[in-house]
Amino acid sequence: MTAKIRLYVDHQLGQGQSVPLTREQAHYLFGVMRQGVGNTVALFNGRDGEWLAEVVDAGKRSGTLSVTTQTKPLQMPPDLWLCFAPIKKARTDFIVEKAAEMGAARIIPVQTDFTNAERIRQDRLQAHAVEAAEQCGGTFVPEVAELQKLSRLLDHWPEGRQLMFCDEAEVGAGKTLADAGPGPWAILIGPEGGFSQDERTRLVALPFAHVVSLGPRILRADTAAVAAMTVWQQALGDWQ
Ligand code: SAH
Repeated sequence: MTAKIRLYVDHQLGQGQSVPLTREQAHYLFGVMRQGVGNTVALFNGRDGEWLAEVVDAGKRSGTLSVTTQTKPLQMPPDLWLCFAPIKKARTDFIVEKAAEMGAARIIPVQTDFTNAERIRQDRLQAHAVEAAEQCGGTFVPEVAELQKLSRLLDHWPEGRQLMFCDEAEVGAGKTLADAGPGPWAILIGPEGGFSQDERTRLVALPFAHVVSLGPRILRADTAAVAAMTVWQQALGDWQ
C-alpha cells in the first residue's frame, strides 16, 4: 500500500519508532488533510529511506506517528551541486524547488559581480527544498547553503569537482558536455545581468571548468538552471 501523503521529519526512522510531529505538521495532517488516528502516511528524513507510519495520536497542535514498514531505500542523487546567483524572490524559490526535483545534491546561492540580491533567507529556501522532496517522491533533501561569494567558492574549490560554466557569452556557440566525464560536478548559473568580464576571464581559465552554451537564445536565469540540470542529468546523471 502506498500512502499519498509524504512528510519530511527530522527524526530517526525505523520499525516501531515513535515520531512526534511539529505543530505545523500536525496542523497540515489533521487540520488541512483531515487525517486522523489509524491513517497511514509516508515519512522520510533524508537518511533512512521512506517508511510508512500510522497516526497513533492526533491533536490540534501535536501528534505522534508509529513507523511500520520501509517502502523505499535511501536514494542519493548524483554528486551535483547547483551554484546560482539569487534573483527575485519568486524566481529564486523556483530555482531551489526545481533543483531539488531535478536531483541536485547541494544548492549553493552565490554572490557574483552583478548579483541583485544582497542576502537570502536560507531557512525559507531550505523549506522549499524539503517541500519539493516531499512532493516528488525523493528520499533525499539537498542542503541549501548560505549565500557565498563566487570568488570565495572558487578559491576553495574542492579537488576533482568539475564545473559546468553556463556562459551567456557563448550563446549559440554549440559548446556541450560531449567530452566531459563522470564524477563530482557543479553547475554555475549567473544572475539576470550575466557574468562580468573579470568573472568570465577567471572562470574560463579554470582547469576544472567546462564552458557550455545552452542554445541559441539567452535564457532567464531560472530557465537556464532547469535547462542546465536537464542537460547534465541526461549526459552524466541518473537519467540514464
Ligand atoms: N543579461 C545577460 C543574460 C543573463 S541570463 C545577457 O543579456 O547577456 C542568466 C544566466 O543564465 C547566465 O548568466 C547564464 O549562466 C545562463 N544562460 C542563459 N542563457 C544561456 C545560454 N544560451 N548559454 C549559456 N548560459 C546561458
